[in-house]
Amino acid sequence: MITDKTISSLSEMLEKKEISSREICQAYLKRISDLNGRLNAYITVDPGMLMVEAGISDERRSSGKQLSRYDGIPIAVKDNISTKGVKTTCASRILSNFVPPYDAHSYEQMKSRGFLLLGKTNMDEFAMGSTTETSYFGPSKNPFNTDRVPGGSSGGSAVAVSSGMAPGALGSDTGGSIRQPAAFCGVVGIKPTYGRVSRYGLVAYASSLDQIGAFATTVGDAAVLLSTISGHDVRDTTSIDREVDFRPGDLSGDVSGVRIGVPEEYFEGVSEEIAAVIKNKISLLEKSGAVVEKISLKYTEYAIPVYYLIATAEASSNLARYDGVRYGLRPEGINNLSDLYLKSRSEGFGREVKRRIILGTFSLSSGYYDAYYMKALKGRTLIIRDFQDAFSKVDAIISPVTTTTAFKIGEMISDPLQMYMSDILTISTNLAGIPGISVPVGVDGKGMPIGLQIMGDHFREKTILSLAANVEKTCEKIKPEI
Ligand code: GLN
Repeated sequence: MITDKTISSLSEMLEKKEISSREICQAYLKRISDLNGRLNAYITVDPGMLMVEAGISDERRSSGKQLSRYDGIPIAVKDNISTKGVKTTCASRILSNFVPPYDAHSYEQMKSRGFLLLGKTNMDEFAMGSTTETSYFGPSKNPFNTDRVPGGSSGGSAVAVSSGMAPGALGSDTGGSIRQPAAFCGVVGIKPTYGRVSRYGLVAYASSLDQIGAFATTVGDAAVLLSTISGHDVRDTTSIDREVDFRPGDLSGDVSGVRIGVPEEYFEGVSEEIAAVIKNKISLLEKSGAVVEKISLKYTEYAIPVYYLIATAEASSNLARYDGVRYGLRPEGINNLSDLYLKSRSEGFGREVKRRIILGTFSLSSGYYDAYYMKALKGRTLIIRDFQDAFSKVDAIISPVTTTTAFKIGEMISDPLQMYMSDILTISTNLAGIPGISVPVGVDGKGMPIGLQIMGDHFREKTILSLAANVEKTCEKIKPEI
């Protein structure tokens, strides 16, 4: 089936003229029309536009003017990444009709290589959540068991790739939103170093933590997508000009002599099944020549409060722009300016977004600023130092991605604190700005996927991708029966 193929093999088939972009896009559109009603992975799909673009791509190829070897391959994009002329809702009522007048840098990069837009994927509202249950458009479903969550916030992207509704996808990761849904849905998900990919055109949640990254079915494909979107962009002053040294050909999978740290804190509270699978994979890496040692990331216990103070503080500031004046929802019956603000925000934002705006506003308010926000910044510094210490001894750190596999829809949504706690193994990476990848390594007794996390020092994407490529070789492919 076309929709079972990797990006690399679709590219080969296109290069050999064994298939056209139109045929590929038709196959994915068919798969979407068969499955999206059940899985709710996409918010927006525009088949007419896609088929026009596919035709143009085929013409480019037949006249030898393809933009890259990937020209004509369609990719899903999370709905907080701006796409000119195509709705970008952030899964929020307040932006439910927002059509951006410009492209995000990451998407611009994809287009410049000939990748096409398959559709915009579902997510937690403004990327705040771990399940997609806070989406204004309803939750996405896990393709391995539709009673279970796909993870979040980039749940729609993970579901699309896992169920063959897209060969790859872009997502964003502020505290785990790529790695956790990748783990829950049995696909590869990578969050790069902060600054590797421009955030221009990514709707801001928590600007010092947000990064765009990629989902794919293989490590090689994830490297293809990440190398495409990487690069300096003057419109994001935090984007950094660094060489991209992790294209698929650069990843040998050779791990001999690579020093791997295993942090004991990252196994606390982890289900026995997950811990056993991860430890087994670590011992296989050791057999392939990696040097494994126990390390300690002793400030891990502060990661949740630190993250939820900083993320909500930044969110309360970023989301101040949704005032009903410039874009988004404009409610009826407005009498004056304060009414406009009040009604737009009250009607436009969902419960979780409001909770976070309130939390963030509180911790930034005078009198509380030092006790909460400043203290959180100090905690962040300790977490950064923890990683600096670790990376003076090891090349990479391996851990589980999540403490459990995908849980039931509705199980945690009424207990925000418990939901926040579930992010414990992914958020430190964002606080430190380092890259992390989730690789599918097996399933639990209920058939739900398990992810293995590899973290590296800043700009060491090549190291973690190489390790991931090695781990991938020792795993059977996991696929949902859907
Ligand atoms: N689950 C985390 C949160 O709710 C992370 C979300 C994300 O990475 N966007 O903030």
